[in-house]
Amino acid sequence: MKKIGVIGSGFSGCIIANELAKTGKYIIDIYEARHHIGGNCYTEKDPETGVMVHAYGPHIFNTSKKDIWDYVNTLTSFKPYINRVKAVTDKGIFPLPINLRTINLFFGENFTPAEAETFIDSLADKTIADPQSFEEQALRFVGKALYENFFKGYTLKQWGIHPQHLPASILKRLPVRFTDDDNYYNSTYQGIPTSGYTPIFQKLLDHPHITLHLNKKFTRQTHGAAHDYIFYSGPIDAYFDYKIGKLQYRTLRFERHTQEGSFQGSAVVNYCQQEIPYTRISEHKFFTPWEHHTQTVYFKEYSSLAQDNDTPYYPIRLLDDKALLEAYEKLAVEEKKVSFMGRLGTYRYLDMDVVIAESLDIASKCATLPMEQWPTFPQSTSK
Ligand code: UDP
Repeated sequence: MKKIGVIGSGFSGCIIANELAKTGKYIIDIYEARHHIGGNCYTEKDPETGVMVHAYGPHIFNTSKKDIWDYVNTLTSFKPYINRVKAVTDKGIFPLPINLRTINLFFGENFTPAEAETFIDSLADKTIADPQSFEEQALRFVGKALYENFFKGYTLKQWGIHPQHLPASILKRLPVRFTDDDNYYNSTYQGIPTSGYTPIFQKLLDHPHITLHLNKKFTRQTHGAAHDYIFYSGPIDAYFDYKIGKLQYRTLRFERHTQEGSFQGSAVVNYCQQEIPYTRISEHKFFTPWEHHTQTVYFKEYSSLAQDNDTPYYPIRLLDDKALLEAYEKLAVEEKKVSFMGRLGTYRYLDMDVVIAESLDIASKCATLPMEQWPTFPQSTSK
């Protein structure tokens, strides 16, 4: 049997390991630098309160791909969950994404959907024909007041970069609605795993041909030589020992608090003012409304530029990073017997469902192609 090394135990690594193991043709070693599996989706019970905690920040599973929804439901049971976010601004607290209620409350109006649409259209800056930046996209579609109150401060804190210099695609993640629908996502299927995300990864790795090695940092020298093929889901620049430079990431720091009862009465409250140092507060017992807890645990979330030993979360992807990524991609394509996968391996801002879809796609290609033709740098659904 061929020996496969998988680096990283997030969705990318665990899915490829599981799919290859099921063929019966491979022995798989999976190497994880942290003390736990699941990457940034890892969940655990908070020892003090008993609340299921998303250790690396809120993860609400959402997808419009039926095959992916069906697939994740084979791995664990999900309960329906709708993410209803509140945003704190200088003018008060409002539902987000911007919807009919947000508009009426914010402007002190009582618009019908059609009136609200006409009103927002009157605020939009139509001199911007083809918005390129985050700021232009906001000014073009919701106008200055909503941009400054809901997006400008939050985005400066989240990305550390002025919205003039960020791509419009980041804002396009958020809908604007002229109904009272305050669901954060548009996806057809939305939910949270009943027992958290960690059991998904345990199930994927539960196969006699898979051996998990926790607390094992990958090095090309040791692991590369010991396997016939490597699937690498760590940061692409780290794989090449940063030899042509470092790709930039934002990292998050979570400040933990507990108390009796509830702190904010809902799962996620965003703080949009620049003067407040954290971006949002997540109170995790509201992610499992089917459980009952007398105590609560909540986390203030602080965003900053990732330094050497910080956990990478968000690829920044400004022009410099994109040029460097292209150079790393060239190296990756030349690298023999390695596939680069996932958010870190391909340096893209990917949601969970996209990572899952891509991993399954890579696995199906590997099932039909000879090893020499396995895809090195697959970007089937690149964003
Ligand atoms: N955003 C904002 N204000 C908010 C929430 C989001 O300005 O209250 C902006 C911010 O730049 C963020 C982007 O919208 O990065 C996309 O938000 P999303 O919730 O998709 O980010 P994620 O869930 O990946 O943290």
